[in-house]
Amino acid sequence: MYASPDPVLTLLGGARTVTGSKTLLEAGGSKVLVDCGLFQGRKHLRFANWAPFPVDPTSIDAVVLTHAHIDHCGYLPRLYTLGYRGPVYATPGTCDLAAIVLPDSGHLQEEEAEYANRKGYSKHQPAMPLYTEDDARRSLELFEPVPFGAPRTVAPGVEVTWSRAGHILGAASLHVDAADRRIVFSGDLGRPSHPLLLPPDPIGRADVVVIESTYGDREHVDADADAVIGALVADAASCGGVVVVPAFAVDRTEVVLWHLDRLVERGEVPDLPIFVDSPMASRALARYRHERRRGSPEFRPEVLDRELFASLDITETRTTEQSIELNTRIGPFVIVSASGMATGGRVLHHLANRVGDSRNKVLLVGFQAPGTRGDQLRQGKREIRMFGREHRVAADVVSVELSSHADRSELLDWLATADGPGLVLVNHGEEDAAESLAGEVRRRLDVPTKVPTPGQRIVVPAHAGSGQR
Ligand SMILES: [Zn+2]
Repeated sequence: MYASPDPVLTLLGGARTVTGSKTLLEAGGSKVLVDCGLFQGRKHLRFANWAPFPVDPTSIDAVVLTHAHIDHCGYLPRLYTLGYRGPVYATPGTCDLAAIVLPDSGHLQEEEAEYANRKGYSKHQPAMPLYTEDDARRSLELFEPVPFGAPRTVAPGVEVTWSRAGHILGAASLHVDAADRRIVFSGDLGRPSHPLLLPPDPIGRADVVVIESTYGDREHVDADADAVIGALVADAASCGGVVVVPAFAVDRTEVVLWHLDRLVERGEVPDLPIFVDSPMASRALARYRHERRRGSPEFRPEVLDRELFASLDITETRTTEQSIELNTRIGPFVIVSASGMATGGRVLHHLANRVGDSRNKVLLVGFQAPGTRGDQLRQGKREIRMFGREHRVAADVVSVELSSHADRSELLDWLATADGPGLVLVNHGEEDAAESLAGEVRRRLDVPTKVPTPGQRIVVPAHAGSGQR
């Protein structure tokens, strides 16, 4: 590697894919890792988590996080086991949620390895977890909360400010000042229409913007989510069916409950029992309720006025036994359970148990990465592989977008709030989405763009117009 007087970004993950977000910033001898996400989805991506880390982890001065989703922070315990002991800076909400999701991630990986060993379907003998729950808990000791809007020097010559991204509780865009450049990392951007959270803050001055592109080639179809969910729940209620909702434990569960709450409050659907069957979702729910009660500035003012989900009959199942009891429960009822793309977690057991019955429903509520079971269900596959065998799908599968991601127009609107960037890097999206967004940014905003390849090093140009070097 050559030494550059200008800051250099290296895309270690999240380049031309939607998971594993990790960008190394080198500036004036400091090394800061922006996000530390786990690769998820297709097998070759999951195997990428096992690859040697391309930089000596002990040489990194600090990790800064945009938010607590696993694809942005889930590699941290692995980095810890590889020797990283520096600080991890994040907003208070992200610190709280990371304390929930990281141990859960370690626990899930231990469970999956154990299950694979017991059933003998792993290719590795014995199957190993990438990291354990204990590893994850130890990595939490590195976290230091930083409030929104308060600049923090995270390494010599590198100052970071967290601004609201409206994606999930605690989610931020990062304004990084280093070597007379300002680099703005979008993190995952929320939708201005998020029912609970306020929209993303404007960008302001930036030399380079690194923007996510999960929905870079698509506009959300704003179907009437209440109507779709209402019809599905009413249908299940009338035939004694069970509605299984694979939902990201953090935020998506809250948004699903927000819709159900509204439908029940208006008397548009029967007040069915609702089971939140994910210990992680329960703990996140507690964080959202707590933050609302304390009047967090991340919430919409109208949300602060009323107890969350007050109209619903919610049971939060804590133990494995309580979860298993749901297998024999007679419908109608609703199960909201993680993971959101059916890549693991308790929802797999519910899907395996319920998809074979045509009275039941599967409600998909978010982005389904290619290769995941959620994606296969969305595509209408009638056979899904779970726990080492095929399961016939007879249940109705319905998708409704309750996305916590900005779509193409919303990404462009946010970018338009930047004051004269010299370069826009488009990452954290599948290749087509990233290229499509990059093209539109060039056309509409007349700004040079790059879609970095994995591992690519990019020298950060000076403000407004020195362009690509
Ligand atoms: Zn996210």
